[in-house]
Amino acid sequence: MKHVLMYSDEVSRVEYDPSHPFKPGRGKYLMDLLNRYTLLHEANQCIATPRPLDEELLYLFHTRYYIDMLKRADEGRFTLEMLESGLGTGDNPLFPGMYRFSLVTAGGTYDAALKLLSGEASFAFNPIGGFHHGGKDHAGGFCYVNDIAVAAQTLIRHGKRVAYVDIDVHHGNGVESAFYKSNKVLTISLHESGKTLYPWSGFENETGEGEGLGFNVNVPLLKGTDDEVYVYAFEEVVPPLVAAFKPDILIAQVGGDTHREDPLAHFNLTSNGYQRVIRDIKALCPAILAVGGGGYNAWKTSALWTLAWAEFCGLTPHDHYAGVVGGMMYGPEVHAGRLCDEPFVVEGQEKQECMDHARGIVSWIKGNVFPVHGI
Ligand SMILES: [Zn+2]
Repeated sequence: MKHVLMYSDEVSRVEYDPSHPFKPGRGKYLMDLLNRYTLLHEANQCIATPRPLDEELLYLFHTRYYIDMLKRADEGRFTLEMLESGLGTGDNPLFPGMYRFSLVTAGGTYDAALKLLSGEASFAFNPIGGFHHGGKDHAGGFCYVNDIAVAAQTLIRHGKRVAYVDIDVHHGNGVESAFYKSNKVLTISLHESGKTLYPWSGFENETGEGEGLGFNVNVPLLKGTDDEVYVYAFEEVVPPLVAAFKPDILIAQVGGDTHREDPLAHFNLTSNGYQRVIRDIKALCPAILAVGGGGYNAWKTSALWTLAWAEFCGLTPHDHYAGVVGGMMYGPEVHAGRLCDEPFVVEGQEKQECMDHARGIVSWIKGNVFPVHGI
């Protein structure tokens, strides 16, 4: 079965605003790195161009009121009520082509879901997808349309069991809201605590409602969290829950903003922790739909996604240029350095606090959520 990269040059050329931290151009940087490290040359790999989503499919999650407003905003017809829906703010600016951008990015995730549904692919990756803050009636956190919610709804309608694992540093609040009352999707988000980071939510006691009780799992971790703490929390919580849930398809939001060089958040992960967790995710389910999510050190994020792509495809990137310095380097390498980071650990009191907190959260989840799943 195929490994598919959803890639759109059109999307990669979009700018929200030159000063805005969300850079769709990361898709192009990723493509450059994949070519550079010869990670797109296998017989079972292919690149697919996303098609814009059929507007009707947006209503699997979004309200017509909101989408109408988004279209009006796109046409430059700004009205004050838009601000209440998060449109035209610093985070979610209005820019020409924003509606088309939303349809193509969501179309990429939707097309990827269809490829998994049909059995054509066992792994598909839409790097400029994963807009996990998008609400049904509002934009939030650089997200206008929630491609994940639309794709997951589609998979559910085809009778599939879906697990969602979100390793972006921010809480996946939009996806949480979409399935909070449902037991059809097991939603797990690991993130920096809402006490110190947007969207200020995602606490462990948000576990779902009604039929969905126990099917929404949050693992909030303290700022400063490093590879050791993160991998510990992930491996204690995620594999047992996903194994008990037995998904047909797993959606992974693989944001790169947990990295210690990310300018918007406060974790201390390196590529080592990120890669380890990707390896863990790969082992969870034979069918995986990955979406790129956040990551505001654009070059570093593309390097992490390169590692993720390689890991999911079972390949080892060969750094033919390791140790080469100065004028011999070219392309994104000049900015990104090597694909892999040196190990880094936090020490002392900060480390102790991060680990103690993580142990407390893990213990709470094991006591309150695991029993719902018979573990
Ligand atoms: Zn994020």
